[in-house]
Amino acid sequence: MTATNAWRFQIRAIPHTGKEVKLEVGWEWFAPWVEDDPALGFAVQALKGDITLARHAQEVLVRGHLQAQLELTCSRCLKIFVQPAAADFDLLLAPAPGPAGPAEEELSAADLDQDYYTGDTLDLEPIIREQVVLLAPAKPLCA
Ligand SMILES: [Zn+2]
Repeated sequence: MTATNAWRFQIRAIPHTGKEVKLEVGWEWFAPWVEDDPALGFAVQALKGDITLARHAQEVLVRGHLQAQLELTCSRCLKIFVQPAAADFDLLLAPAPGPAGPAEEELSAADLDQDYYTGDTLDLEPIIREQVVLLAPAKPLCA
């Protein structure tokens, strides 16, 4: 993952007026992920993101627009095809509860708009990955 630093931001340095982040990655960003999880069932040929980070005290609001070219396998005829996908998301990140804090709760799909960061750095990469998984249709169809 060559672009790792471009995904990381010091929480303190994020302005409340908003910081714009443009992401553009290709196949090489996604390839290691497929190796980790061959059951994923899709691939990303290209991904563009327009992200705005805004900090309000301890919380960071992440708003983004993603555009991707997804490589999908048709659930009916097994043909591999490419389909564009786009989505907007809004996430509010709060500091992770410490060991002494409230017990960590399992995040369910309903909790997606509330997430956590740990330490003093925000790493956008896992956030974007999660959003990309949501972009992929559960039952892709080529036609
Ligand atoms: Zn098909």
